[in-house]
Amino acid sequence: MELTKIKGISEAREKELNKLGIFATEDLIKFFPKTYLDLRSKQLIKNSYHNDMVLTPAKVIGTSVVRYFRGRGIAKATCEQEGLIFSVVWFNQPYVLSKLKIGQEYLFFGRINLKGGVIELVNPSFEPCEKVYRLKGIMPQYSTKNKLPQKTIRDAVSVSVFLEKPTSLIPSNLQAKYDLANLYNSYQKVHNPTSFDDIKIASERIAIEEYFLLISAFRLIKGDKQQIRYNKYSCTRNEIDDFIKEKFDFKFTEGQQKAVEEIYSDMTGQTVMNRLMQGDVGSGKTAVSIVSIYIAVKNGYQCVMLAPTEVLAIQNYNIIKNVFNDKNVALLTGCTPLKEKKILKSQIKSGTIDIVVGTHAVLQQDVEFNNLSLCVCDEQQRFGVAQRSNLTKKGIAPDTLVMSATPIPRTLALIFYGDLDITSIKDKPLERQIVQTNFVPKEKYSGLFEFVKKQVEEGRQAYFVCPKIDGDEEGTLMSVTELFESVKEKLQGVKVGLLHGKLKEQEKNKVMLDFKNKVYDVLVSTTVIEVGVDVKDATVMAIFNAERFGLSQLHQLRGRVGRSNLKSYCFLMSDAKTDNAVKRLEILTKNFDGFKISEYDYKMRGGGDFMGVRQSGKIANDLGCLEYSTDAIFIAKKISDEMFENGQLSEEIKKVAIKKYDKLKDIILN
Ligand code: ADP
Ligand code: MG
Repeated sequence: MELTKIKGISEAREKELNKLGIFATEDLIKFFPKTYLDLRSKQLIKNSYHNDMVLTPAKVIGTSVVRYFRGRGIAKATCEQEGLIFSVVWFNQPYVLSKLKIGQEYLFFGRINLKGGVIELVNPSFEPCEKVYRLKGIMPQYSTKNKLPQKTIRDAVSVSVFLEKPTSLIPSNLQAKYDLANLYNSYQKVHNPTSFDDIKIASERIAIEEYFLLISAFRLIKGDKQQIRYNKYSCTRNEIDDFIKEKFDFKFTEGQQKAVEEIYSDMTGQTVMNRLMQGDVGSGKTAVSIVSIYIAVKNGYQCVMLAPTEVLAIQNYNIIKNVFNDKNVALLTGCTPLKEKKILKSQIKSGTIDIVVGTHAVLQQDVEFNNLSLCVCDEQQRFGVAQRSNLTKKGIAPDTLVMSATPIPRTLALIFYGDLDITSIKDKPLERQIVQTNFVPKEKYSGLFEFVKKQVEEGRQAYFVCPKIDGDEEGTLMSVTELFESVKEKLQGVKVGLLHGKLKEQEKNKVMLDFKNKVYDVLVSTTVIEVGVDVKDATVMAIFNAERFGLSQLHQLRGRVGRSNLKSYCFLMSDAKTDNAVKRLEILTKNFDGFKISEYDYKMRGGGDFMGVRQSGKIANDLGCLEYSTDAIFIAKKISDEMFENGQLSEEIKKVAIKKYDKLKDIILN
């Protein structure tokens, strides 16, 4: 149903909803709350500490627009609470002031910032107290950047759930067998909960329904896509061994040898290779991939090796050029000068170039090949499934080897990547020393700065990482610039660099290289350093708001230090208070095996971000912020399997599943 049919949704508000990807009531019911506030746990400003997230009522006594910074405004409200006067500030949300009435009491939810004795509440969401007090218990919070009042959304969603009355596509006998709650009730509970237990059970139920559709769609669309080999390679096992002996000054580990075996058997087999090779950073995946490149170029075919960042592409390029010194190797990235790019493109098309090493730039349509036969994608999780298929379209049924340093449990990989064979390298060449990992609660943050200062004095370097560039709308997260300022202030005399995703590619490279060359002692960054250059003297990795990261991602970040024989440290900085969050982070203090860590990750967080499926922006499922367990996925799989076997996947389900995951078709079928 149209949004404007709902009471309270004007055309202006409809436009705001459209910007959030909501066009009809059926979208609205899937606009799940970003978080839930417990109205029973309000906190007074005077009892709060720096960085606390507080739910707090206060009266607005004045408003002003403070200053403009490069065209950006800071809106400010002066508030009063039991005689205490404090400021509330919003960055880049100039419209908030028009929504505040002086003299009115509001319930705010945001982060406390204490700076030089001044108390501020940063980027809070808010609503008039009178509207909240009618709600008892738990209040859902929707992600609206304060452009739409929470109450408007809350009411519109409730009405939509009632109008839509979502019904399950799972037959009732299976719903009973798997003890599934009523779907309509579950939607009501997620948007209008009376207890936190309710939310949990209802979220799980909705997740099962969504995954049931996703998995069924996968099954219906994918079918059997084994392709007959087009590229014939002649290469013996002995030639491979000789190549390894000649080019590497080390012996391959058992895991690497097994991987070579599997790739060799794929590439000399009847059907095209579609293989995922997963293993921790440093397990020797790049070395193995070089063997696959050898098989292809030896037979006169062209290869591509893709990396997610320029820095990594350059690193690969240098390795490849060195190994294949009798072949023509080209580097093609977004930073390649236009003139050079043009020449390279014509050489790639004519077949003069044997191996192209590059980034996304290689995916562009006008990069054409003569006889592309092998695509190697490094750090698979950064590339979407769609991008991968763009690449393979550049050849005739080329072999594909994708590599990932964030392994996912095999069971899940089999569900979502049934089209890929999987190689796991579980051992490591040299027993790298363990990076000592500690959980650091808020009270102990100052100790970190002292520690880093000492390390820097000894010539070491440190990374400071936080999750977001801008912080977030509620101000829960520190922004990278905020962290940068505070590090500079606390570490006087230490050279501090700043790196984030909004910098241009060239600027990023420069900062990264400057860090490597010790122009900086400390690098403050978002996760763009996740895959990057080797910095031997980096011994400290401090991760702020660590609770916001997946365990696998934290493990990856940790892998940036401890790359020499210097003792290295990882600090997980977090003011997380729930037992669960602390327990999660403590897993990292005791575990150093990426496979193990990813098992925990999926057990505790649920799925939801399958290797680039989400990042590709193409097949993101509808679950948004809902929290659910991995079990939901397995149950959905069982149900889909059972229905498939019993011929119960009806035409209706097929229609819904395929319509919903329409884009899967383009991706899987070509
Ligand atoms: P990954 O791509 O899995 O992160 P690399 O292939 O880049 O791992 O290997 C990491 C480092 O270890 C490289 O410097 C590489 O030369 C080295 N290396 C790889 N395999 C071995 C091995 N079997 N023995 C010793 N060193 C190795
Ligand atoms: Mg690698």
